[in-house]
Amino acid sequence: MKEPQLYAEVAVALPLRNTFHYRIPKHLQEQAAVGKRVRVSFGHQHLLGTLVGMVEHPPLKQLKTIDEILDDQPLLDLQMLELTRWMAEIYQAGWGETLAAALPGPLRRGLKGMRPREEEPLQAPTPNPPLRLTTEQQKALEPVVESIRDCRHAAFLLHGVTGSGKTEVYLQAIQEVLSQDRSSIMLVPEISLTPQTIERFQGRFGRETVAVLHSGMLESRRLQEWQRIRSGEAKVVVGARSAIFAPARNLGLIVIDEEHEPSYKQEDAPRYHAREVAIQRGKLCGAAVLLGSATPSLETYYRATSESSIHLLRLQERIDEVPLPKVQVVDMRQELAAGRRSRIFSRPLEDALAETLKGQQQGILFLNRRGFATLVHCRKCGHVLRCKSCQISLIYHMATKSMLCHSCKVSVSAPEICPQCRSDYVRFQGIGTERVESELARLFPKAAIERMDTDATKVRGSHARILGAFSEHKIDLLVGTQMIAKGLDFPRVTLVGVISADTALNLPDFRSAERTFNLLTQVAGRAGRGRMPGRVIVQTYTPHHYAIQAAKEHDYLSFYRQEIAIRRQLFLPPFARLIRLMVRSPRESRASAAAEQLAAICRQHLAPSIQVVGPAPAAIPRLRRQYRWQLLLKASTLEPLQQGLPEILQQFHRPNGCYLTVDVDPL
Ligand code: ADP
Ligand code: ZN
Ligand code: ZN
Repeated sequence: MKEPQLYAEVAVALPLRNTFHYRIPKHLQEQAAVGKRVRVSFGHQHLLGTLVGMVEHPPLKQLKTIDEILDDQPLLDLQMLELTRWMAEIYQAGWGETLAAALPGPLRRGLKGMRPREEEPLQAPTPNPPLRLTTEQQKALEPVVESIRDCRHAAFLLHGVTGSGKTEVYLQAIQEVLSQDRSSIMLVPEISLTPQTIERFQGRFGRETVAVLHSGMLESRRLQEWQRIRSGEAKVVVGARSAIFAPARNLGLIVIDEEHEPSYKQEDAPRYHAREVAIQRGKLCGAAVLLGSATPSLETYYRATSESSIHLLRLQERIDEVPLPKVQVVDMRQELAAGRRSRIFSRPLEDALAETLKGQQQGILFLNRRGFATLVHCRKCGHVLRCKSCQISLIYHMATKSMLCHSCKVSVSAPEICPQCRSDYVRFQGIGTERVESELARLFPKAAIERMDTDATKVRGSHARILGAFSEHKIDLLVGTQMIAKGLDFPRVTLVGVISADTALNLPDFRSAERTFNLLTQVAGRAGRGRMPGRVIVQTYTPHHYAIQAAKEHDYLSFYRQEIAIRRQLFLPPFARLIRLMVRSPRESRASAAAEQLAAICRQHLAPSIQVVGPAPAAIPRLRRQYRWQLLLKASTLEPLQQGLPEILQQFHRPNGCYLTVDVDPL
């Protein structure tokens, strides 16, 4: 009997929801298989795509043929196809572009046939044998192990203070998966993917078993690691956000450390959240999902306490009962009233720094703003120096004597006179990490001081160099941004100073209290990790804010209760799901008119239970010469929003040069 002729269903790498059908030429029929990349003509272009199905009866008769099939073996299995299709639907992205996002860069761009892997010399792993678990750890691990043994999906939240032994629980759960010859993926925020973290995993499971994936690696190296995972050689994957797509075989467990971190949300299409993708992938392949944090996101903690979809596990004590550091909140208004001139160091912080240095201990100073001065203005005419394409104020960087836009990275030289009135009353205001560093050097000329932020770590390897020097105590005081807030474990650090707790608090975002609480808790966790007790000094102009008070007491629950009440009252996540529609245009009138049009369509077509908020200029109203207007859709579940959107997008007449982006669960 003659075999039926089959046609290829292809998802092209474009922001399109539908797939397209192609004829498979004779010479490619043997090679055609679902999950392989193909090259096809599309309109006037030739595009990459993924073969996602083979059908007998295509919807159209006139079909183009496939140009080329790029792979000998499928790169993506059926579960990956299903996962990406789910993502495309949930996050309103193209299936083809979502499939592309799941592949490493060179394959995404069409690299054919993978080169054999270069052998790297194996370094001697510092061995890291399993520890005997405490009773609390044992209790937390048990249900996870049970779900792994049954090959049954379940999601867990491990809520434990910093230093309570969460990582040890992850390691032993992964061990269980390995003993069944299955694979695990462990996601960590990019910033905490330090040599310290990697060594801990390699030390436990061996270098060959562990694959590392992060954006700082050369692409060729990433591809090698990807192949090692795909071949089944590396069964433990440690990586940042996109490692959620690692081609792990027989996946048994996905761990997401610091699950509350905003870096798990992808900013470009497909705008996915790695936590939600992990849970979906876990469901598809019967894997356990373990989320961990000292400060869980409101969404996750709510699901773990008010719904049954996530099981809550707790670690309430620190290992060895090392006490949490004492946190002192300093009211900067009172400092000012008491005649203190410095707006950088309060009296208590300056004294504590002096004591720390005298006792030959180390200190960390945290400020979430880099540069020297964050506002440069003229005292005569009031002119503020702003970026010409983003309109936000430029930041003065002393090291390069330049003014930098932190949004579009444009840099101009610093003015000596006002560009508007030509007076020389140019004033540099607002504090960044460079300024803190220089003030410290003035106050403590004998101390060894270093700064760690994106400016100071531009050169490859400087990150590791600074941390190395700090761990050998060649540095007394380390100044930095959130780059130093996480994961660092140095026993001689007894003082942590937060220069201003208000920078995060004053952001125009409903998550600003949550961010502030998380950040303060994380930084505070850097102090007193060794035998010497630690102390934390938090400077603020709003000392009574509940986020600051709860962080002072290390009291997550108290913070959660106050914050969740506000979210409920204002109908915000986790009680509401949000979709943000943003229009961008180089002409402001077009952006605002398009947003108005969109809002009118939404109000007309969406169910009355859906709130339409706006339109209004975005939090950054102009970025890279584009004006940005946005609209927020709110509903108690995602379904009515998802159902209504296609109609809305169809009705919307996009003005020339105007772009629309859809962001589901925006952060
Ligand atoms: P977390 O991830 O919650 O911050 P870690 O897993 O890093 O905590 O544990 C903090 C410290 O305690 C680490 O130095 C770790 O080696 C140690 N530790 C963890 N579990 C145990 C245990 N069961 N027995 C002894 N030490 C432990
Ligand atoms: Zn002026
Ligand atoms: Zn700019």
